[in-house]
Amino acid sequence: MACIFCEIVQGRIPCAQVYATDTIMAFLDIAPVRPGHVLVIPKAHYPTIEDIPTDLGNELLTAVQRISVAIRRAVDAQGLNVMMNNHRAAGQLVDHAHFHLIPRHEHDGLQLWPQSAYQTPEQMHKIADSIKAAIG
Ligand code: AMP
Ligand code: ZN
Repeated sequence: MACIFCEIVQGRIPCAQVYATDTIMAFLDIAPVRPGHVLVIPKAHYPTIEDIPTDLGNELLTAVQRISVAIRRAVDAQGLNVMMNNHRAAGQLVDHAHFHLIPRHEHDGLQLWPQSAYQTPEQMHKIADSIKAAIG
C-alpha cells in the first residue's frame, strides 16, 4: 500500500495515537510545528477535503473540536490553529486528507499567514462573484 497514513491506520507503521473511532484516527505529527501538533484523519482514504463525504466530514469536525480542547489542556496552550493543506500547490505532501491541529502560546512567534491586499475593491468583488458563481 502506497499511502503512509493508510499504513498507519492498518497498524503497519507505528504512530503516537491520541484518539480513534471506527472511522477516525488522530496521532502526533512526527515533525511538529509545535509539541502537541496532532493530525486528525478519516480512516478511509480520501485524498482531499473535496472528496470527504458530508457525514464523515461532520464526524471529523466533531473530533477536531474535541481533540482541540484536549490538546490545549494537555500542553497548557492559549490558542490552537486548525489547518489543512489540499493539493500540491497548497503544500499537501501526504495525499490522505488530514487536519493539522497546532497548539499556540501567547507570543510564540509563529507567523502562519503572511497576508496581502487586493489591488482595488473592484478586484475583490470580482473574485467574490466568481466564487459565488462557481458555488452555484
Ligand atoms: P501535509 O504537508 O499537510 O501533507 O502534511 C503531512 C504531514 O504528515 C507532515 O506534517 C508530516 O510531518 C506528517 N507525517 C509524515 N509521515 C508521518 C508519520 N509516519 N507519522 C506522523 N506524521 C507524519
Ligand atoms: Zn491513505
